[in-house]
Amino acid sequence: MRKKIIAGNWKMNKTPSEAAELAKLLKSKINAERADVVFCVPAIDIMPVGEIIKGSGIALGAQNMHFEESGAYTGETSVKMLKDAQVEYVILGHSERREYFGETSDDVNKKIKKALEHGIIPIMCCGETLAQRETGVTMEHVRIQVKAGFKGLVAEDAQKVVIAYEPIWAIGTGKTATSAQAQEVCAGIRKTIEELYGAETAQKIRIQYGGSVNGKNAAELFAMADIDGALVGGASLKEEFADIVSAAE
Ligand code: PEP
Repeated sequence: MRKKIIAGNWKMNKTPSEAAELAKLLKSKINAERADVVFCVPAIDIMPVGEIIKGSGIALGAQNMHFEESGAYTGETSVKMLKDAQVEYVILGHSERREYFGETSDDVNKKIKKALEHGIIPIMCCGETLAQRETGVTMEHVRIQVKAGFKGLVAEDAQKVVIAYEPIWAIGTGKTATSAQAQEVCAGIRKTIEELYGAETAQKIRIQYGGSVNGKNAAELFAMADIDGALVGGASLKEEFADIVSAAE
């Protein structure tokens, strides 16, 4: 049985002092025993939030990192910096990074390898635009993204990666994919992993759904056979995030 994983993507929200307040509030409401719970916070909030959630069972996550270990990359954060700050997970290839910052699948692949090399678990995002869904190329597009992200990974590493299926049209829009739509693509992703690595790896890998998940729709999504949790944006900044975690227990 795969353990569910609920990750909050705080995006570019909360100053360090605001982040500390939110982390305290959520920590008091969340029971992180039966599902893995991750707060993926802005880089500047990693240290204060890390101090607050220490020992709570809630894991610390980042929202991006560079694929080089150090050097002349102004404004970037390295894997060693994340590791030293006790970060356990990193979101990679979020659609906002691909769209607004020109991140390519090749970049995502290099970042995934670098994170795994240092024992940080990547949460690799993939998902289609509305135009792609409407023209019927959703699965083809997602398969290409998954294959590119996993290029060169051996099964032992591949199974550690968490995949977040996030249809772009459902992110921050209040439009959730139906549980059947989400299940269909998540099952297709698992099939892609099976083709690449075999059934054992495919059964182990965790696949989240992301896109306007909230306290009301989470339970139905989590009841789907191939949905192993959620990557949550907007609702991760509210007490409602605790309800999403409860729905996974
Ligand atoms: C996200 O950005 O990863 C996300 C899923 O956002 P939201 O939950 O706000 O749609």
